[in-house]
Amino acid sequence: MTKRTFCEECRDDVEFTVASVPMTGTVKGKEYHYTGTETRCVNCGSLVFVPEISDANLRSLYDVFREENGIVPLDVICSIPEKYDIGKRPLSLLLGWGELTFSRYCDGDIPTRQYSDILRRIYAEPQYYADLLEENKGNLKSLRTYKKTRQAVDSLLSAGIPSDNKIHTVIQYLLNQCEDITPLALQKALYYIQGLYFAFYRTFLFPEDCEAWVHGPVYRDIYFRYRDYRFDPIKKTASFDTSVFTEGEKAICDSVINNICCYSGKVLECFTHKETPWLTARGNLPDSAPSDKIIEKSVIGAYFAAVKSRYHMSNPGDIKNYAEDMFHQL
Ligand SMILES: [Zn+2]
Repeated sequence: MTKRTFCEECRDDVEFTVASVPMTGTVKGKEYHYTGTETRCVNCGSLVFVPEISDANLRSLYDVFREENGIVPLDVICSIPEKYDIGKRPLSLLLGWGELTFSRYCDGDIPTRQYSDILRRIYAEPQYYADLLEENKGNLKSLRTYKKTRQAVDSLLSAGIPSDNKIHTVIQYLLNQCEDITPLALQKALYYIQGLYFAFYRTFLFPEDCEAWVHGPVYRDIYFRYRDYRFDPIKKTASFDTSVFTEGEKAICDSVINNICCYSGKVLECFTHKETPWLTARGNLPDSAPSDKIIEKSVIGAYFAAVKSRYHMSNPGDIKNYAEDMFHQL
């Protein structure tokens, strides 16, 4: 880190002070607010330019831009090559992109929404990556590259990484246990499982983000998968092997099945409409305005951690008190 920098006023290399301050920047014609670092000359107090700090400020601005526009975070992008043991250029080719496109994203360029969604999914779902790899392996320049990354993804798949399609496993369990669950209620059940699991275990069960739609939190892919059922109950899953769950995972699912899924999707919609995560993500949007704003996991986590402590929950079944309270407030 630079210790001194040039001050235009003093016409000399000077030491400088640093302070965190609110800053405003413009990306693609829109203003964003973020916390940046300000550097000032210790002698005269004028603003001075420090390249590293200026870069860091730009990164903070872009982080806010990404967050507000649902663009995949930079650290997620950068960890993909390591996760799947593949170089940046081969990965870019594999995806059918320009050879340097992925490298540019790693350097901080903002991907389009479409590319962002692909990257987010690749990171979260080894199976999705494995499918892409098989489909596009002809794009790779060497067999060795293919073998290396195939091995990496295979070992992730066989290790049953917890993030790997956990949401689908949970859905199968819900469909097995619940009578008459509609797509609307299913979305709410997933949301409560995510929040409650965090409250008890301080980690999230699903990597997927949900969005603040008109009728409450929605996991987009799941919506499209079951939307044909609309207001009808989704077909029941005949059998389910619960040994795929840890004790904690099963306890949270069971509690939500017993204490949340007993309400209709419409009643649960009234619950989530009163809760901070959905309200915060919607901001000032009118009630009927469509939105794909992500409900940040951190907000969901903080909300349910607070609920757990407010209702003195000592085990997952205690969510009952919260649900009953919400119901009585309708
Ligand atoms: Zn100065």
